[in-house]
Amino acid sequence: MIIDCHGHYTTAPKALETWRNQQMAGLKDSALRPRVADLKISDDELRESIEGNQLRLMKERGIDLTIFSPRASFMAHHVGDFETSSTWAAICNELCFRVSALFPDRFIGAAMLPQSPGVDPRSCIPELERCVREYGFVAINLNPDPSGGHWTSPPLSDRHWYPLYEKMVEHDIPAMVHVSTSCNACFHTTGAHYLNADTTAFMQCLTSDLFRDFPALRFVIPHGGGAVPYHWGRFRGLAQELKKPLLQDHLLNNIFFDTCVYHQPGIDLLTRVIPVANILFASEMIGAVRGIDPETGFFFDDTRRYIDATPMLDAQTRHQVFEANARRVYPRLDRALTAKGL
Ligand SMILES: [Zn+2]
Repeated sequence: MIIDCHGHYTTAPKALETWRNQQMAGLKDSALRPRVADLKISDDELRESIEGNQLRLMKERGIDLTIFSPRASFMAHHVGDFETSSTWAAICNELCFRVSALFPDRFIGAAMLPQSPGVDPRSCIPELERCVREYGFVAINLNPDPSGGHWTSPPLSDRHWYPLYEKMVEHDIPAMVHVSTSCNACFHTTGAHYLNADTTAFMQCLTSDLFRDFPALRFVIPHGGGAVPYHWGRFRGLAQELKKPLLQDHLLNNIFFDTCVYHQPGIDLLTRVIPVANILFASEMIGAVRGIDPETGFFFDDTRRYIDATPMLDAQTRHQVFEANARRVYPRLDRALTAKGL
């Protein structure tokens, strides 16, 4: 089986974006504020938005199942207040749930949280629990920077986040550490902010003893781990200077990297540097980079090709990356598959 642990609903019907624009207009003029019931998207529209896009590419590329979450750049937690994020997250999560119900063999949900800058993360727990209990979601996306590029929240190692971690452990769900759109002109959203955040999240964990407090907590750091695998020696050296245990013991029971690295040398490096047990297949399609690589003639985000081609993996380790690791890191996914006899 091939499980893609990182897909967003980037092709949702236009009505969703229109509703969001209206919600944002309503922040300036409350007379314009839309009601949740104003958003009407039929099952046929959902089907159409998936079949011709995400599902078509999954079939073409031989991807069986995608862990599917709301569009990351649209989370925009910095917009409005908690109420704004809460309504928006509920709408987006419900759409992903409906997609997973229409295509139960192809999609399973991961929740966006109703984070808001300066608001206690505890406020996200009801939505988290709703998504796990009612929607059967298997993970959350956790934004370490709800301010959208200004980094006003404490680091992930701070007790600020602990109530969420307690719930993650209770429900046995991992978090993909995933920022949203950048509203800081210094950082391009997908080219800088995402990768910075991946690297930053790793370093926040490295300098702390977070996983001593939460040995069962699991983070998936997307986009190949940002700069982490490339600079693995620097991180090992820093850990040594900080008198931390070896990274293997300090972080790698809890941190995993996906394969959203859009060229062969990047995947070769990732699979050479990071233990295979910590690498999960993902493509983040249809996402940040949608074009065709003129050097190969294939889509940049057709990441399965790089996994198939890397000399660092054999049939057994490839199976770990494609399926076994995901089933271990997302136990609720494993249970859902096992219940289907898979
Ligand atoms: Zn993403």
